[in-house]
Parts: sequence; structure tokens; C-alpha cells
Amino acid sequence: MSTSTIEAPTTFEALGLAPALLEAVRDAGYAHPTPIQAQAIPLVLKGRDVIGLAQTGTGKTAAFTLPIIHRLLGGPRRLRALVLTPTRELTAQVKESFAGYARHTELRVVDVFGGVALGPQEQALRRGVDVVIATPGRLIDHMERQNVVFDDLEVLVLDEADRMLDMGFAPQINRIVAEIPRYRQTLLFSATMPPEVEALARKYLRRPTVVQVGRRTEAASTVSHAVYPVPRERKGALLVELLKREGMDSVLVFTRTKHGADKVVRTLQREGIEALAMHADKTQAQRTEALEKFKRGEIRVLVATDIAQRGLDIAGISHVINYDVPGQPEDYVHRIGRTGRAAATGDAFTFMAPDEIAMVRLIERVLGQPIPRISVPGYDFGTVAAD
Ligand code: AMP
Repeated sequence: MSTSTIEAPTTFEALGLAPALLEAVRDAGYAHPTPIQAQAIPLVLKGRDVIGLAQTGTGKTAAFTLPIIHRLLGGPRRLRALVLTPTRELTAQVKESFAGYARHTELRVVDVFGGVALGPQEQALRRGVDVVIATPGRLIDHMERQNVVFDDLEVLVLDEADRMLDMGFAPQINRIVAEIPRYRQTLLFSATMPPEVEALARKYLRRPTVVQVGRRTEAASTVSHAVYPVPRERKGALLVELLKREGMDSVLVFTRTKHGADKVVRTLQREGIEALAMHADKTQAQRTEALEKFKRGEIRVLVATDIAQRGLDIAGISHVINYDVPGQPEDYVHRIGRTGRAAATGDAFTFMAPDEIAMVRLIERVLGQPIPRISVPGYDFGTVAAD
């Protein structure tokens, strides 16, 4: 096994995908490949076997779907690609992605999973398909009924391999793979790499390259991130709005400037929300007092500048709000990590003005995953949101 050290190209065009795929990616509104995509797509296009160590949310589905569609374009209508997944939900989800990315092509994608009637799936399979997404058990039912033949199968994907093994699918996987031509491309995706998954990879993959994302600067996993698109002049109003919600008990707000911090405090105080600022223009006594009051729960909101963040160590913060997008991706990870360590379920929200979209994208690239966007009606600046 080798580990990929490819420098990530920054555009989908640079990855060499067919025009029909570039169009679909544009339709989806993706500006750049995620790290797993930038690393895996060129390898899959070359026909290499790949092990992708990546969790859901990293863009891993497109990382295998896009190059598979590229490979299948213009070929005969035969079952040429098979994706095995652990659950019906994931099967349906991968099917959605496949169908979406293949929308400007003639490819036919069918999903099969248990718990529903065999008949309609049987008819869909017999009409002719290029790609099947399946849970192992139900696929075997169809194999036994000769609804699927693997003679022309070129690509096999084992998605969420660790979960499939956890769920006891090893015998079914073995049975399925035994019927697939040896000369094929095999891709394995897994969030973790326990010995059983390694054994599976050794058995079914040929000289695989490992691509891995999310290790280097992984943000604390208990934190749920979200980005709120909002025009700069509406940020204060959005903050007030969010603070009305339940659970916003102790909120640390970061601003880029001292002036900005003071302004936020004034806005909050006007609304009757107890808040204090902490920044370099405050005396040490004032800063200590603000921190103490925040820790004792006497004030709900502490507003700090970027400069102040490193010294802060506060237990029990319920939320961190980046009023301005941090200027350095590392600051984002560092800052968000603070709530993750301190509170079991800290949430981290980032307010993103139109001129901060590029910065958020950079942070997402470093994180190795997109941050979900939350649109608050009346505040979102509209469809220009980076998603
Ligand atoms: P996945 O890790 O495959 O479950 O994908 C997680 C989410 O990321 C999905 O909702 C995708 O639509 C989205 N996504 C995938 N690729 C990109 C990209 N290059 N840029 C932005 N979002 C993406």
C-alpha cells in the first residue's frame, strides 16, 4: 500500500472530468473539490484501487461517483459498476448522488435494498442498468433470481466498509465478490481502519493507494459547526435573534477588531442582553472582571477579539460565535476546539458576509469537510451562499 501525497488541484476542471460532469458539479454549486475528492478522483480516473479513509460529510460520495461516471460514459448499457453499502438509507442517498451527478448523461442507476417488495426492483434491473447501489442481503436475493449478472462489472465500491463488517455482512460480501470478475477496479471507503477492514482490503484490492482526510487539523468532533450567510450590516440583528433561542446560555462571541467588539456589546445591551467585551484596550482588571462574571453566569455573552482568544480557558461554554470569519483557518480550528473540549455539545456558528465566502471555503478545505449552511429567513443574503 502506498499513501497518496498528491498536491490537491483546486478546480474540478483540473481533475480532468468530462464536461457533463463539470456541468453537474456546477449545478450542485460546488466551487472546489474537497480534499478527498482532489486526492481520490485522479487516482480513480487512472484505474487505481483506492482506500479512502474518510467520514460522511467529507464529500466522499462524489469522490468515487464522479470518476466512475466518467469511466462509464459512452459505454454499452451493461451492469458495469456496483456500490455496496450497509443500510437502505445510505443506499438511497448514494443513488441520489449518482443520479444527480449523472443527470447530463444517459446512465441508468438503480438502487436495491431490503424491507420493500422485490418486484419493482426486479423490473428496474431487468430493463437494463449501468450502476447498481445495493445492500448486500437484498443484492443476493436478486443474484439468486438472476436479476443481476456481473460478467461486465468493472468497478466495485465498498462504501462504509467498517459499518458493513460491524453489521455482520462479511459472509454476504464474500459471496458477492466471488462472482465479480477478478480484473476490476475496487474502491473501499471507511471511516476507520480496524484489522478486519484491513483484511478485507488485502483480500479484494490490488496495490491500493490510501487517501486520508480529516486527520491533520480535525476539529473537535463533539462540536457541530454551521455557517450563517448574512450581510455584514445585519450581523448584529442576527446575533440578537439567535440569542433568543433556547440553550444559548453562555456564548463567546469573537470579532476581528476591538471597535467591533465594543459595537456588538452596545447592540446587545440595547436589547437588554448582558454582555461585556474583552480586548487589548481594556485594563487587566476589567478583563479579569469580565471573565469572572462570564464564568459565574452573571453575563450571558462575552465578546472577545481574535487577540484575546488564546488566553481564554472557559469551561461550560454553550456556543462560540464567529461574528467575523477568522482570518486564518488554523484560528478557526483552534477556537472551535475550545468549545469542543469544554462542553460536551458545544455549537460553533460563523456569520459569513458575502466578502467572507472565500475565507470560509478555505477553512472548509483545511477541515476537509464542508460546513453546513443555515439560512435564517430575512437574514440570508440569498443564493450567492457558498454551498
Ligand atoms: P458525503 O461526504 O459524500 O456524505 O458528502 C457530504 C456533503 O457534501 C453532501 O451534501 C454533498 O452535497 C456535499 N459536497 C460534496 N462535494 C462537495 C464540494 N466539492 N463542495 C461543497 N459541497 C460538497
